[in-house]
Amino acid sequence: MVQAKIGVIGGSGLYNMEGMTDTVEVAIETPFGRPSDVITVGNVDGVPMAFLPRHGRGHRYSPSEVPARANIWALKSLGVEWIISVSAVGSLREDVAPRDLLIPDQIFDRTKSRVNSFYEGGLVVHCSFADPYCSTLRGLILAAGQDLTDVKVHDGGTYACMEGPLFSTKAESNVNRKLGMDVIGMTALPEAKLAREAEICYATIACITDYDCWREEAVTVDMVIANLSANVANAQRILRSLAHSLPADRTHQHCGCASALDHAIMTDPALITDELKERYQLLIGRYIS
Ligand SMILES: [Zn+2]
Repeated sequence: MVQAKIGVIGGSGLYNMEGMTDTVEVAIETPFGRPSDVITVGNVDGVPMAFLPRHGRGHRYSPSEVPARANIWALKSLGVEWIISVSAVGSLREDVAPRDLLIPDQIFDRTKSRVNSFYEGGLVVHCSFADPYCSTLRGLILAAGQDLTDVKVHDGGTYACMEGPLFSTKAESNVNRKLGMDVIGMTALPEAKLAREAEICYATIACITDYDCWREEAVTVDMVIANLSANVANAQRILRSLAHSLPADRTHQHCGCASALDHAIMTDPALITDELKERYQLLIGRYIS
């Protein structure tokens, strides 16, 4: 089976990886069903990468319907250790303008009906999630962003993840602003939580498409789409440069993502059945065998 250490999950507007050569499409079945689409594995400037469109090609899954567990599991099964997610978001801050990029460092959960964990049916795991994004990967994305002299890339901010699919009311948008949220989107969760549970380094390039609805400004679909294509082109430039800057192995990284399950499995090992061991081999094999 083809392998790649770098995975990209493309959000709205990003349905394929520019400049990827020698591509192979892989259909993967997971214990949690099928991912959003086939995963395209290929080389970006000679470096293997795996690409998955979060909503499926043709945009078929709403944020609440995205099969996030299958997506992260499938990437893990290809050997992915780094996931860069690209997400369209609305800005809740005057100084974070449409067409800017923001690399969030926090998440606030405003989802209502999503399954947040891989582990169930007799296996309980509590991972630390105080810092939901990988600090190593964030740093490398920001460094790559510095080379884009024509784009403003903001370092840090809180991504409020709402359920959707409808956008916020003005009341909600203003409350989110008062509470100190910086951008709002619908897809950071449970993706970031599942990446942590799978010990994958995960960070997001948030593409600002509009000012949500707090700014009392007429937002047209045409405007949002024009901003989104500009954003996605800039995100692709960052992804391309990351192909070369990501470390070949994670042993010496300080982020701790690669050992997120150390001391996190709460269930008495004696009570973890063979069936559970087999089901979760990919994620926790090295802790329970
Ligand atoms: Zn990490």
